[in-house]
Amino acid sequence: HATKKTMADHLRKYESLFTLTPQRMRMIVEAFKDTLELGLQKHKQIVPMIPTFVFGWPSGKESGDFLALDLGGTNLRVCLVTLQGDGKFEITQTKYRLTEEQKQDEGQKLFDFCAECLKTFVETNFTGDDGKSLLKPGEMLPLGFTFSYPCTQERIDHGVLIRQDVAAMFRQSIEKYNIPVIAVIFGTGCNAAYMEDVKNIDKIKELGIDEKAQMAINCEWGAFDSFEHEHLPRTKYDAIVDDTSNKPGEQAFEKLISGRYLGEILRLVIVELIDEGVLFLGQKTDKLEVPYVFETAFLSLMESDPTDELLMIIGIFTHFFAVETTLAERQFFRALAMLIGRRAARLSACGIAAIVSKMGYLEEGCQVGADGSLYNKYPGFADRVHEGLIDVFGEKGRNIVTHHAEDGSGVGSAIIAAMTKVRR
Ligand code: ADP
Repeated sequence: HATKKTMADHLRKYESLFTLTPQRMRMIVEAFKDTLELGLQKHKQIVPMIPTFVFGWPSGKESGDFLALDLGGTNLRVCLVTLQGDGKFEITQTKYRLTEEQKQDEGQKLFDFCAECLKTFVETNFTGDDGKSLLKPGEMLPLGFTFSYPCTQERIDHGVLIRQDVAAMFRQSIEKYNIPVIAVIFGTGCNAAYMEDVKNIDKIKELGIDEKAQMAINCEWGAFDSFEHEHLPRTKYDAIVDDTSNKPGEQAFEKLISGRYLGEILRLVIVELIDEGVLFLGQKTDKLEVPYVFETAFLSLMESDPTDELLMIIGIFTHFFAVETTLAERQFFRALAMLIGRRAARLSACGIAAIVSKMGYLEEGCQVGADGSLYNKYPGFADRVHEGLIDVFGEKGRNIVTHHAEDGSGVGSAIIAAMTKVRR
């Protein structure tokens, strides 16, 4: 009779499902590059490649106080950014977690909430010890705004929402101007921005903008492979995430990578093994059977558990889900987190590689400013991106370096506000 499969046996199946070979990655990069180029054309875009009307690089000499509002998929941040004119900045930040209701609410209510938070922030930060405002009568504070939902723009102070998916427009480059810089964000959603030659942006040709100029492009790369599902290695868990999402088919790349989904992918594997009678036999598992209860932060915690007994993982499963685990199961969960986290990082590397390859930045090297909780808090995420870049490009992949762009969205929007004079 057949011997019972061990957790290590089960793991092998998931290893083959979630592992990306260098060869597969290079195929994804090629397809991704074609998609980016198509996005700059007028028709048939899959990835929107939105012109931002942010022209060229900042000089680093921008100075002054700017308010910045960063509306993400999870948090609203209000920042006061002081650009010091020498490429440096100071930032004061208040973070507000958005409730589920606020995220679902009609747009106007959400903007009302933003305005309310902004008002409180200004009152708190611009009131002297004597209780009087530090602002002169009639003094206006310039405001930069980062909005994590795709918009089309016709000018800098204008934005029309095109879809409700979460991604983040993001760009930042203070000290590193003049060398190629890409900006990426890995938070609730994921996205990238880079500087493109206006002459290559086919879809704004008729605007007659100086062909020698450069303009930042908001890729909205989360949409890569949407609807086609031809290029990315989707497992059946990814297909479930997609089918049960509020926008099936859309944001195909983002659904394999970003903070919103990684915990859910792992939960779906666990649920499958519960259904197969492999895990938690005889225990009540209803708490694990609720969509999205397994947070991506748990994957971070599981991967960084320093104990041999994996006490952190015991804690997560008993405390949040009221189930007991064996050591072999905990080792399996940790290995599974590693597979899902590693796949996300390697796919992110494919996206970065596609921009690098499209722009011809490989030889001279390139800096990638990165921010978002996944990049900052997931252990080894950045290292895995770098490994992925080396798998795609060989040793030259080392020319591409990522850096944490601290408060990238806030500081980036402040710099853009400083660079931009809007006339009405
Ligand atoms: P936003 O998307 O609003 O800009 P963040 O960059 O903080 O905000 O990203 C929030 C996302 O990051 C959520 O989807 C959350 O699941 C995930 N997240 C939060 N903490 C961690 C962590 N420690 N490790 C991995 N992911 C995390």
